[in-house]
Amino acid sequence: MAQQGVQVISVEPGSLAEEAGIRPGDTLLEIHGEAVLDQLSYQYLVSREDEATLRVRRPDGSTFEAWVENGGEGIGVDLAQDEVRVCRQNCVFCFVHQMPKGFRKSLYLKDEDIRLSFLYGHFTTLSSSDDAELDRIVRERLSPIHVSVHATEPAARIRVVGNPREGDILRKIDRLLAGGIDVHTQAVVAPGLNDGAIWQRTLDDLWARRREGRGSVLSLSCVPVGLTAHRDGLPFVQDVDPAFAREWALRWKPEVRRLAAANDGEPWLLLADEWFTRAGLEVPGRAFYSRSWAQLENGVGLVRRFLEHSRRFLRSPRAQGFKGRRVLLLTGPSFAPTLSRVAAELNRAVGSQLRVVAAKNFSFGESVTVAGLLCGADLKYAAHADRDDQGGRADWVDAVAVPSSSLRTHTGPTDQYTLRGVVVREEGTFLDDLTLPQLATDLGVPTVPSGANLSHLLDHLEAADRGAFRGGALQSAFHTAGLNQPQGAYNP
Ligand code: SF4
Repeated sequence: MAQQGVQVISVEPGSLAEEAGIRPGDTLLEIHGEAVLDQLSYQYLVSREDEATLRVRRPDGSTFEAWVENGGEGIGVDLAQDEVRVCRQNCVFCFVHQMPKGFRKSLYLKDEDIRLSFLYGHFTTLSSSDDAELDRIVRERLSPIHVSVHATEPAARIRVVGNPREGDILRKIDRLLAGGIDVHTQAVVAPGLNDGAIWQRTLDDLWARRREGRGSVLSLSCVPVGLTAHRDGLPFVQDVDPAFAREWALRWKPEVRRLAAANDGEPWLLLADEWFTRAGLEVPGRAFYSRSWAQLENGVGLVRRFLEHSRRFLRSPRAQGFKGRRVLLLTGPSFAPTLSRVAAELNRAVGSQLRVVAAKNFSFGESVTVAGLLCGADLKYAAHADRDDQGGRADWVDAVAVPSSSLRTHTGPTDQYTLRGVVVREEGTFLDDLTLPQLATDLGVPTVPSGANLSHLLDHLEAADRGAFRGGALQSAFHTAGLNQPQGAYNP
């Protein structure tokens, strides 16, 4: 783990920390005699008891002990941000390895951090986690944790993660389960790599580890592999084409229902939306997805949730806010059919003129169809092409909406942690560094993020009506959740 101790950045006036003589620049070394590893372990340690004995190091190297009666609360310090931990694996379908060259540095960061897995649902292969770290997860009750299993058959797993020491993922999972930690799991599936009997064994092994009470495998999602056009020098991986996706969706859909029935009605096996969108199939109904929408960020249930929200929205008086609006909605090809259908219903219901255009991803390659990986240049190209198609008038639409998920700060949401030497971009910048205000200026019409649903979209259009783009700058706080499938599906 990180070096022992976490530096104090500031001390709240009148706080317990100030009373205890702690000053900015000191380092919190231990609480209750246990090492403070990072912010998460600080929170765990201070909350454990009503009082705490602290060991602190001054900048000159001297140390002292202090005792505080904190009632299980924080002691009034701001601590230095933790650095995200970087992965040293070599997964055959690692998305970072398939990035086009020349993007900003933060996009090439391979994060693999159990803290992000616990806090934000990132998946970790656990390849960087030794036994001491697994024990830390148990000790600090970092549950549930999200684990990329990919395959439980050792030789197959080694092929997938590219690390000969990481074949036995079940040993690590069992250690966590025995310690009472719940685990959400996923397998990114590629034809000929970990499908067939390997997948069946993965499913069986993980299902056998589902149990009542603590220490259970809570879910297993399967996600089709995502490949870009930038695989020069990388091992061959077979893509999931529409026929394979269709076969998979139809084969495993009944199994989702069968296992849910044996799991008190709660879906346990989860099929990512992309199986259906790639196959051109309708996504299943609400009962197909877990009650808590587990693994939504992994692309499981986003389309269904959007449709559910749209159904309610269309019946609400607020839908009238779209009346008369001419809006171009840009999205990725995988979400475009769903969005088109909803836009047509809205147009019929309230007299709006929403049009959906599927933007091709020239930056990553046309095989990439998710909205979250569209770059500013792709969206700009699609909007210009649409304007030309519509006669070339400067006011061809009242506004353009771009996918919120394409405005993320990173291919994975690691901006909560510092990235050594990397400047994290401001909100409103696409993956290729084009900003939303720049795109709006280029298009000459208000250009807004889509938000996660029609209600968000209307909020953004109304904000644009009020001049949220005054001076070319984005002056309004937008909903930042993605309307479309996030690229999380690519983050094993
Ligand atoms: S897919 Fe994840 S674990 Fe694998 S190499 Fe890439 S960042 Fe590391």
